[in-house]
Amino acid sequence: QSKLDGRDQYSFFSRKMQLIVDQKHTLSSELKVAIQKEQFILHFQPIFNGDNQLVSCEALVRWNHPKKGLLAADNFIKQAEDSRLIIALGEIVLKAAFKTLKEWEDRKMLDGFERLSINISPLHFMHPTFVEFVRKTLMQEGVNGNMIMIEITEHNMISNFKLSSAIMNSLSKLGLRFSIDDYGSGYSSLSYLHRLPFSELKIDRTFITHVLDNEKDQKIVGSILSLAHSLDIDALVEGVENNQQLEYLKKQKCNLFQGYHLGKPVSKNDFEEKYLLSS
Ligand code: C2E
Ligand code: MG
Ligand code: MG
Ligand code: MG
Repeated sequence: QSKLDGRDQYSFFSRKMQLIVDQKHTLSSELKVAIQKEQFILHFQPIFNGDNQLVSCEALVRWNHPKKGLLAADNFIKQAEDSRLIIALGEIVLKAAFKTLKEWEDRKMLDGFERLSINISPLHFMHPTFVEFVRKTLMQEGVNGNMIMIEITEHNMISNFKLSSAIMNSLSKLGLRFSIDDYGSGYSSLSYLHRLPFSELKIDRTFITHVLDNEKDQKIVGSILSLAHSLDIDALVEGVENNQQLEYLKKQKCNLFQGYHLGKPVSKNDFEEKYLLSS
């Protein structure tokens, strides 16, 4: 039995709620300033094929917070979406990613490299300015769309099927390709998979964590893989954290591999040194 009577309980919860609201408010006003001051950088995580060759990498945004230091995306993306700042942030990310790609191309560092993957929030993807921004920025930065993979989670794809499909078709014409991120964690409707032009799916890492000893996860991964193969879509596994997982997943005929075991996300300079200048 609670010692608090109804009114105390109410004020306890409302104070707690207020605190949460305040924290969210602080975070979004900090984010707003951070966007104005462009306090964001990109880290890059390598992606390998089954022969252990680097074929691409994923750009992951980091916030260079004046007090808290470098923050990973998990700490602020949701708030950026809730406050709609994600659109401005997404534009910063796209621009920085294109600039980096252009620099790597100019320095002839992209031998064997297929595409750079960029995460886009569904909110930004569906925004009326998105396609035009991509077209304009590709041109400004001198980048060919066929070097870009857009990663997007499946949420909203189904409810906005017509819009998603129109946006994807326009961007496809510029050479861009699309990857479904965190596949299996959302609705995972099968019907849209073959009706939208996805060329890759990324199996959510929650299925990989226990894949070696959890039969259910093995079955899920197995069926996602056969689905991908039958639709002629590349299957990428994210969150590969040890060699046993890697060997197991290679046997299961995954095409592409990403995770801490293969390489953590690192700064642009470190990425160049570790992966682009070595060979
Ligand atoms: P995601 O796209 O699924 O990215 C993978 C996340 O898992 C990254 O966290 C990455 O650092 C982490 N990760 C990679 N390999 C491993 C591994 O082996 N084990 C574990 N435990 N984690 C691993 P991060 O950078 O904090 O990003 C979190 C999420 O935030 C991303 O999930 C993506 O949805 C979103 N995000 C990241 N960068 C951007 C961006 O530039 N724009 C947008 N809109 N969203 C972004
Ligand atoms: Mg991603
Ligand atoms: Mg993912
Ligand atoms: Mg994720």
